[in-house]
Amino acid sequence: MESAAGAKEEEKLKEKEKLCRRCKATYAPSGNTALSCRFHPSLFVCRRHDDQKRYYQLRDGDPPYAAKFYDCCGAEDPDAAGCTTDFHLSYDDHA
Ligand SMILES: [Zn+2]
Ligand SMILES: [Zn+2]
Repeated sequence: MESAAGAKEEEKLKEKEKLCRRCKATYAPSGNTALSCRFHPSLFVCRRHDDQKRYYQLRDGDPPYAAKFYDCCGAEDPDAAGCTTDFHLSYDDHA
């Protein structure tokens, strides 16, 4: 009969934090859920707001429009919280 007392290996798997290439936040892979990463799927653009979904093309002589916003949700602050959530995407992932 063997006794396991004291023979138990205490191997604590230390989870390595990863860096999200999308939001630049560090995260633990085990805590990565579909709500972990907040980001904007579209780019921060600089053009006129177009409420009627009518594309506006700049022509010669038009003043340069200063409107800048996210093309996905219209947020005008580049630091605005993301309008979409998804899994964090590490530099190791090939997605
Ligand atoms: Zn957005
Ligand atoms: Zn992220």
